[in-house]
Amino acid sequence: MIYLDNQATTPLAPEAREAMLRWLGGPDSETFGNPHSPHRLGRTAKAAVEVAREQVAALFPAGGRVVFTGSACEAINLAIRGAPGDGPMALSTIEHAAVYDTTKALGRGHYLSVDSAGVCQPDQDLPDGTSLVAVMQVNNEIGTVQPVDQWAAKAHAAGALMLCDAVQGAGKLAPPQDADLIVVSAHKLYGPKGIGALWVRDGVTLTPQITGGLQEGLRSGTLNPALCAGFGAAARLAAEQMAQDNTHARSLFDRALELFAGWTVNGSMTERNFANFSIRKDGLDVARLMSDCRDIMFSAGSACASGSGKPSHVLTAIGLSPAEAKSAIRLGFGRYTTMEELEQAVAMIKGAAATQE
Ligand code: PLP
Repeated sequence: MIYLDNQATTPLAPEAREAMLRWLGGPDSETFGNPHSPHRLGRTAKAAVEVAREQVAALFPAGGRVVFTGSACEAINLAIRGAPGDGPMALSTIEHAAVYDTTKALGRGHYLSVDSAGVCQPDQDLPDGTSLVAVMQVNNEIGTVQPVDQWAAKAHAAGALMLCDAVQGAGKLAPPQDADLIVVSAHKLYGPKGIGALWVRDGVTLTPQITGGLQEGLRSGTLNPALCAGFGAAARLAAEQMAQDNTHARSLFDRALELFAGWTVNGSMTERNFANFSIRKDGLDVARLMSDCRDIMFSAGSACASGSGKPSHVLTAIGLSPAEAKSAIRLGFGRYTTMEELEQAVAMIKGAAATQE
């Protein structure tokens, strides 16, 4: 098996796994306490949560607090549904479904277009009375990096809050400095699944969406110290290894580019997270390709769009026809991807694609 789907999820870093084990808490341990209990066992668990919170906080700018959630989707829902105001919510047309569908469900979405390189240029007007602007840091399907701080300046000039989904950027890029609400997910940066975080700038008030104790202040539910500890360790490691991880991803991207000569890259070649290699080839039957390459874990467009039969909204937003959008694949490189794996995978994918000619 060769894993090339690191935008869908990443393997757990050994360091994060190690940090989690202690907090799984069997009956003979003193690590199974409820972190919200005031007794010693509870305080022990709480200390682990707070160490993790500090480590995760280093992914964000100064001047805010980290609210742990069960996923990035949950954090996005809290930010959007809990934000003050009832005006339009302006979002880029390439936002993740968590932003797209939530603003749509509220009937308040106003769409900001992207150019053919997949960048949401900040020269677009916001509608009167905009309450919230949502532009992601890095797109999950095509890897484009967005001018988030420029959008934050526009949002603030219009009296709106700025939300940034930084799920694909956290641990790879410096955080956006001027957003008011930032979302990350542990499992995209070699941490565990089932935990995300919403960073809330000091002074911003949100309405909780999950009531029942409000253990996290803005969110109810008992925290899982093992997940928090794994998230914290993964965040610390991501910060320490950021330069090295990015250099590694860049060398894999450059090699993939050579090997896939003749295919077209989707998205900007400069404003990009180079761990994302999204490409297409006219006439490619992606479903057939994927079934011919079962030992390679990669994606058609995005994990969410895969299997739905619908062309990806991101690929159509950059101007691709439905047929072009359906001829795209995404290879996602990660910290543990080797050059040998890449070369083997490309040989298999190109071999399978050649049988379709
Ligand atoms: N936002 C982006 C850009 C993503 O890529 C994803 C996951 O695919 C999410 C949000 C949702 O993350 P989670 O799985 O933690 O809910």
